[in-house]
Amino acid sequence: MQNPELSQRRERVLALLKEERIHAFLVTALPNVRYLSGFTGSNAALLLTPDRALLFTDPRYQAQAPRESDCEVKIATGPLLQEVGKWMKRLRLGTLGFEANRIRFAEHQQLRELDGLRLKGISELVERVRMIKSPEEIAAIKSSVELNAAALAEALRHFQQSMTEVELAAEIEYRMRRLGADGPAFETIVASGERTALPHARPANRPIEANQLLLVDMGATVAGYASDMTRTYAAGKLSTKWKRRYRAVLESQLAAIDAVRPGVSCAAVDRAARAVLRGYGMEKLFIHSTGHGLGLEIHERPRIGRKEATKLELGMTITIEPGIYQEGEGGIRIEDTVCVTSNGCTVLTPTPKELIVL
Ligand code: ZN
Ligand code: ZN
Repeated sequence: MQNPELSQRRERVLALLKEERIHAFLVTALPNVRYLSGFTGSNAALLLTPDRALLFTDPRYQAQAPRESDCEVKIATGPLLQEVGKWMKRLRLGTLGFEANRIRFAEHQQLRELDGLRLKGISELVERVRMIKSPEEIAAIKSSVELNAAALAEALRHFQQSMTEVELAAEIEYRMRRLGADGPAFETIVASGERTALPHARPANRPIEANQLLLVDMGATVAGYASDMTRTYAAGKLSTKWKRRYRAVLESQLAAIDAVRPGVSCAAVDRAARAVLRGYGMEKLFIHSTGHGLGLEIHERPRIGRKEATKLELGMTITIEPGIYQEGEGGIRIEDTVCVTSNGCTVLTPTPKELIVL
């Protein structure tokens, strides 16, 4: 029986395909396969036509695939794409759209070897549909965000100075698992002291010293959906300069959140964050974009960056995460997840943002 939410998603994709005059579309990116079919296995391809949805996987998933998915499951004993080719012939479909931004080179070679098939590369089609989250998806992201926040709160209760960055990261990921996460959505970032100046620092085996900055960027995957949050703490006393910098980043983050509403471009939200930092003379220290969409993947469209013309729409769920980084000294980032509502946005992250001294 068809799952109404899944078939609605497939309808949306089919409508876009129609505009491109394509009658068969091959989905090979696993998060896109999952989004359109419900199937969570690690080897799958989905063939969409106006009246059929065929899910290809291998014998390991013989039992799981029909349980999770409402599509017609085809178990392939050889390469999945060969099986797809057979079905293309059987259904007399000549042109096959494929995910140009996602397909592997070897997969593309395999498709080219199937005779009688014309190929048309299409980029980010499913990703564009995925930008707008359904109420069910927003609820799933909210659960993930809340679990992530609870894991941080628990881990901080076990925080002691002289703990290493690796130990704190391990504590955080352990708490996530205990609270019911599938696992971390990305490698947890714990950085202290001057290492906070590296936006993507890996936790090091070194103690978190007193009177330094401590930055934690973490996300959980819960029922397939990602969360993402950054907090920067003072592990002891901070200098006036760094307190001022913290205030600047927080104001910048609040200004960007304030700018989020339907119809506003992502670039405008990014500008709102940068304008505050410019006022503090810190604009040059902000070296990345303001945020990104998230959902089944940790980084999704839209990107909240200078050049992103995409306009925000009801149901988009994005992060807002301005930061400043001074090489050799330190960095501050504050990141929340927000969901676009009809007249603004709701901040899903419940964790406090004023400067906390641990
Ligand atoms: Zn993050
Ligand atoms: Zn992020």
